[in-house]
Amino acid sequence: MLEASHHYFNEAADALDLSDQIREILLTPRRVLKVEVVTEDDEGKLLHFTGFRTQHTDVRGPYKGGLRYHPHMDEDHATALANLMTWKTAIVGVPFGGAKGGINCDPRQMSRQELDRVTRAFVKGMSGMLGPTLDIPAPDVNTNAEVMGWIMDEYSQSNGFSPGVVTGKPVDLFGSLGRDEATGRGVMYAMREALKDQGKSIAEVTVAMQGFGNVGTHAARLIAELGGKIIAVADHLGAVENQEGLDVPALIAWTAEHGTVNGFPGGAPFEGADVITWPADVLIPAALEEAITGDNAGDVRASLIVEGANGPTTPRADEILRDRGVLTVPDILANAGGVTVSYFEWAQNIQQFRWELDRVNDELEKVIVRAYADVRTVAKEKSLDMRTAAFVLAIQRVGRAAKARWPIRETVRL
Ligand code: GLU
Repeated sequence: MLEASHHYFNEAADALDLSDQIREILLTPRRVLKVEVVTEDDEGKLLHFTGFRTQHTDVRGPYKGGLRYHPHMDEDHATALANLMTWKTAIVGVPFGGAKGGINCDPRQMSRQELDRVTRAFVKGMSGMLGPTLDIPAPDVNTNAEVMGWIMDEYSQSNGFSPGVVTGKPVDLFGSLGRDEATGRGVMYAMREALKDQGKSIAEVTVAMQGFGNVGTHAARLIAELGGKIIAVADHLGAVENQEGLDVPALIAWTAEHGTVNGFPGGAPFEGADVITWPADVLIPAALEEAITGDNAGDVRASLIVEGANGPTTPRADEILRDRGVLTVPDILANAGGVTVSYFEWAQNIQQFRWELDRVNDELEKVIVRAYADVRTVAKEKSLDMRTAAFVLAIQRVGRAAKARWPIRETVRL
C-alpha cells in the first residue's frame, strides 16, 4: 500500500518536476510510533497488540487522521494512509497535516469493555504525541464515535477538559452534528460533481457499491434519496443485488441487525467479488484498499469510479482504467468529507459553540464542490487525470506552506 501511495505521489512530482531531495522530504514521515498495547480481557487473561501512529507532515497544521482497528494494521498501512491524509487535508483546504494509526486487533472478537481498555492503553502509549494543537485522531475502519469518546476521556484525565483532542465524538460529548454521515455525504457531492462533467445527474444513474460500513451506508442512503439506484452492494460476508434498485433504508436496517447485507430479502445474492465489475454506471469502492487491481480493472463496466475507501485502486488498475477512459474521483478528494467535518467539529470545540446541522452540511457542500473544481482546473490546465491533478494541487499547497515556514533556498517549482 505504501508503494501505491508513493507511486501516485511520484506521478504528480514528475508533473511538477520536483527534485529527488524534495520528494524525499515531502514523503518521509516526521515521526512513526510503534507501541505495545497490553491489557486484560474480560476473563483476566493478557491481551497483547501493537499500536501504530504515523505523523506524516504538520506544515499546514496539527497532524490529523483516523485510527483503524484491524488485524492487518501495520506500520506500512499507517504510513501510507498518513501520507494520503496530508494530501487530503490540503485538497479540501482544512488547516491540518496528515497522520494515521491504529491497532492490529479485531474488534469483532472483543467486548466493549475490552475495546475500551485497549483504546485507553493505546492512548497512554501515545502520551505526549496527541493534543488539540498537536495531533487529532478520528474514526476510521472499525472505530466509531464511542471509541473517540473514550479517547477524549482518557486524554482529558491527564490534560484537563480537551474536547478538541479528537473528532468524530458522540454528539452528546462535543461531537459535531453531521460528522457521522460526513464522509458518505462528501462521496455523494463528489459523485454529483463528476456526473455533471459527464452530462448526467444522480437521478439517472445506477450504482454498485463495495463495502457497507460508515461510508457506504450514508453514501447509499443519500444517493438513493436523490433518485440514484443502488443496484448491487457487497460487504465482506455477502452481497445482494436488485436491478430495480435496493431499498436502502431497509438494507441499512437489515445490516444493523445482522451485521451484514447477506440474506437481505429485498434482493438476490451474488458473489461479492463481482461487485467491482457489476454493470452499473458508477462504482463506489467503500471498503478497504486494493479492491480494484490489474486482474479486475479491465472488466470494470462503470464509467465513473468514486473512491469512498482509502487506496482502493492499485497503480496497475489505475493505468488500465485511465486507458479505458473511466473517470476516477480519487480517494483524497472523494472521501475528504469526513476530515472536513472533523475540522468543523474541532473549530466548534475550540470556540465552545455548536453549529446547526444545516450549517455543517452547507459548508461541507461548499468545500467539496470547490475542491472538485480546483482539482478539475489543474487536470484541465496540465492535461492530467483527476488523481494526478489532485496530488499536484496537494503537493503545491503543502510545498508552498513548507517554503513559507522554512528557509528553503532551492528553487522549487510549486
Ligand atoms: N478516517 C477518515 C479519513 O480517512 C477521517 C479522518 C479525520 O477525520 O481526521 O479521512
